[in-house]
Amino acid sequence: MPTPKTQEKSFRENVNLAFDLALATLDVPEKLGYYIKCGNNIYQVRFPVKINGEVESFIGWRAVHSEHRLPAKGGIRFAPMVSQDEVEALAALMTYKCALVNVPFGGSKGGLVIDPRKYDEEALEKITRRFAFELIKKDYISPAVNVPAPDMGTGAREMAWIASTYSAHKPNDIDRMACVTGKPVSQGGIRGRTEATGRGVVFGLREFFRHPEDVKLANLRGTLEGKKIIIQGLGNVGYHTAKILQEEDGAKIVGIIEHDGALYDPKGLEVEKVSQFKLNQGGVKGYQGPQYIKEGAQLLEEKCDILIPAAMEGVINLDNAQRIQAKLIAEAANGPVTFDAELILRKKGILPIPDIYLTSGGVIVSYFEWIKNLSHIRFGRMTKRHEETQHEMLISAIEKNGAKISADLSEKLLEGSSEINLVRSGLDDSMREAFNAMRERYWRNGNMDSYRIAAMAIAIEKVATSYLEMGVYP
Ligand code: GLU
Repeated sequence: MPTPKTQEKSFRENVNLAFDLALATLDVPEKLGYYIKCGNNIYQVRFPVKINGEVESFIGWRAVHSEHRLPAKGGIRFAPMVSQDEVEALAALMTYKCALVNVPFGGSKGGLVIDPRKYDEEALEKITRRFAFELIKKDYISPAVNVPAPDMGTGAREMAWIASTYSAHKPNDIDRMACVTGKPVSQGGIRGRTEATGRGVVFGLREFFRHPEDVKLANLRGTLEGKKIIIQGLGNVGYHTAKILQEEDGAKIVGIIEHDGALYDPKGLEVEKVSQFKLNQGGVKGYQGPQYIKEGAQLLEEKCDILIPAAMEGVINLDNAQRIQAKLIAEAANGPVTFDAELILRKKGILPIPDIYLTSGGVIVSYFEWIKNLSHIRFGRMTKRHEETQHEMLISAIEKNGAKISADLSEKLLEGSSEINLVRSGLDDSMREAFNAMRERYWRNGNMDSYRIAAMAIAIEKVATSYLEMGVYP
């Protein structure tokens, strides 16, 4: 992935600049605003792990940005370039994300400096368990206080190791499975969590396209159908986003950017096929058919309707902002557009839908998983069959009166709520509500110059109200 050549502000500074603009639109005491912005605490740990007979030392962080609600929530990232600044910025984004979409958590984030591709599964398990233990020791992992989740470089497998490490150390904690979310379903996870961030991006985009006034802001018209999309990153978020947009919304994925180059085909790429190729070969280089672009990042600058950066922060920056030709930027990664780049994009009439809104699907479904773990029962377990019986009675009553319900419709009507349906409907509802709150704030206040500032203002207001009501602020 490209590193900006221009001297850019740090990730944290970028987040804070948006914060300052949003705060200026609010009636929040200045010192409270400062306190919220700065974040509460950060733990840095260095630990050794013996791999193939050699001792290697690792460094990692867990940052807690806000505790106005507990637990504090946010993923753990495994990547070679992780830094304290990045972890703190991401923890802050978690605070704003949760507040915006009404998920009652504080914000946190963790990161470990590691290139996971360089280690086999056995070594990764050892490293993950050791990192988890270091965090558990200091209460940076616990169902009540701090609950990690997957992020870049981690997934359900790592979450299972973390849950197992926590359980080994706290076997008497009856809520131990709620110490981490994003677990495999067989380990207390919830159906729909893996696809959640991607599906959330799609739900967010669908809601955007329900508002012609907003669609016009991006010089677009109509629905997602037929829209030309370029996506950066075919990891968990990018893959699900692209696949759902293609299969359920009829959008055209014309470009896919990966770490080893990009694929471009104006007629559209087959997301599933590219993803399978990537899983087998480790990248997209060598994929037959579409045009291959060695300098993948160049494709960010190609003409398209929607550009979806779903990889990492800072990819749209002072180096390339001027050359971006997309109409809408759907931020499916955290912080992909720098603060200064957004100023340029806006002058060009390009509209970004901000990360703190669009990437919140993951933590929304994490919230559902946490609730499931605390209640020790799968959603729908007690109601599904009951609902089906009720629907059956309703259908037969209607049919007794002469009406005929088609086999297709009656099959749909008969189905009681399964966990996956409930998760998706809860996610859809959360995404719609938050979009409407954000757009409403954007249109209502003349001084709100972007969705990002509108979203951030809503979040800060909620966090501030919470602190003020608790009486923490003197
Ligand atoms: N890592 C994801 C994010 O950045 C999910 C966090 C969570 O589920 O707690 O939003």
